[in-house]
Amino acid sequence: MTTHVDGYLRHIMGVCSADSSGAVADYIPELACVDPDGYGLSMCVHDGNVYSQGDSGVTFTIQSISKPLTYALVLSRLGPAQVDARIGVEPSGEAFNEISVDAERRPRNPMINAGAIMAASLLLPPVREVAASTVDSVFGELVEFYSGCAGRYLELDEDVYRSEAQTGARNRAIAYMLDSFGVVDTDPESALDLYYRQCSLRVTTDDLSVIGATIANGGLNPRTGRQIMTQEVAQRVLSVMTTCGMYDGAGDWVTSVGLPAKSGVGGGILAVLPGQLGIGVYSPRLDRHGNSVRGIDTCRHLSTDLGLHMFNLTRESRVTIRATYDIGEFEVGEDWTERERSYLRTSRDRVRVYELQGDLTFSGAEAAMRRLEDDIDRYDVAIVDISRIGIVDPVARTMVLTFKHTLDDRGQRGMVVDPDGVMRASVDRHRNDRVIPDIVAPEALRGFDPTLPHVHATMAEALTDAEAFLLKQRYGPDDGFDGV
Ligand code: GLU
Repeated sequence: MTTHVDGYLRHIMGVCSADSSGAVADYIPELACVDPDGYGLSMCVHDGNVYSQGDSGVTFTIQSISKPLTYALVLSRLGPAQVDARIGVEPSGEAFNEISVDAERRPRNPMINAGAIMAASLLLPPVREVAASTVDSVFGELVEFYSGCAGRYLELDEDVYRSEAQTGARNRAIAYMLDSFGVVDTDPESALDLYYRQCSLRVTTDDLSVIGATIANGGLNPRTGRQIMTQEVAQRVLSVMTTCGMYDGAGDWVTSVGLPAKSGVGGGILAVLPGQLGIGVYSPRLDRHGNSVRGIDTCRHLSTDLGLHMFNLTRESRVTIRATYDIGEFEVGEDWTERERSYLRTSRDRVRVYELQGDLTFSGAEAAMRRLEDDIDRYDVAIVDISRIGIVDPVARTMVLTFKHTLDDRGQRGMVVDPDGVMRASVDRHRNDRVIPDIVAPEALRGFDPTLPHVHATMAEALTDAEAFLLKQRYGPDDGFDGV
């Protein structure tokens, strides 16, 4: 509740849901029978905590979002040199199902169908006749790998799979064209079969967010603790998602959103903030490129409103809680009466200090405020010491100050120690920015006042303020400070 991340996500969805343009994919009947208004959003942060909103539990077929995963699997199996010899890494600038190869007759990249079918072919044995049972067992390994990324066993949508296989004339054309170039070592039908099956796996936005967080985390699934792919493979996958993930609009996508991403015609989008988090969005109405209309808009808002562009600031990503302790180590203030001092001596554990460090961006603030929220019954006063923080970006500032107001409203107290005035500098620097309007207004707007009470220049001042608060709580406003 109090970190308001769910509130931010809901707000962004509220803004984006106004747009009902686009059309549900209908090249096979199974895709057309979904609820066109379905809309889900999930975010999995670096420690595996998942924020889920809307239809985050609804399943849909993964479709082209499978492409980076199969590419990852093939890289893990064969290593980059062998894979590079067969699949390029250059953006094609063309539609996903373009029959597009380079001068060496390699598909231009693994995110277009030609490259994805090639990647699937590389998982199969290099023989022209592949037994059905072999395709089954390779598919089993593929499902294992995808499920490892999602942290949950993924299932095949049999109906979608059958329809894909029956209607896949264009994909068949791509596979046979590659075969005619002599670059496919296996049976093209088996490669197609594997590709159709991978596209027909069912996922939710929660799954996509965990898959994204796994890739963001260098291949380590933050929920299960299992290393699913190596750091090198994850880096590769992020690179091709950045340059080739969003089809023809890659340049615009990187510039305006700045999150490596992959979309699928099932309506899903997977987006990753490297080192930090994974995002899954679902909304089945597609634009003319085959990307979810609301999904794209949602990613744009997440990037701008939450400052998630991968080139935002010089970030130290795993900021933040350097230490947390109660104030037992600090001497009780000299200026109180003996009665007050003896009370203060018994209540040192009701004041907790949280020392943050690094650049405070969305992810850092999310982690820190979640910690403060988890501890909320352990203190009456929380002192957030940001003296080691270099930069505070607007959304992080809003989160810290909103949390502070939440504490005030609960009858607790939030204080900030900010000797270098980074909060104030942040207010000045971003004075004219559009910072998540309305999300937690009007309380949050109080957070933009740089002359905020309880923002202190030193820890000593904060401690005195904290002690005054405890005394007021204990003895009331009229009876606490005169030694009576
Ligand atoms: N199964 C679809 C195809 O290969 C996937 C397309 C997509 O999601 O972009 O045509």
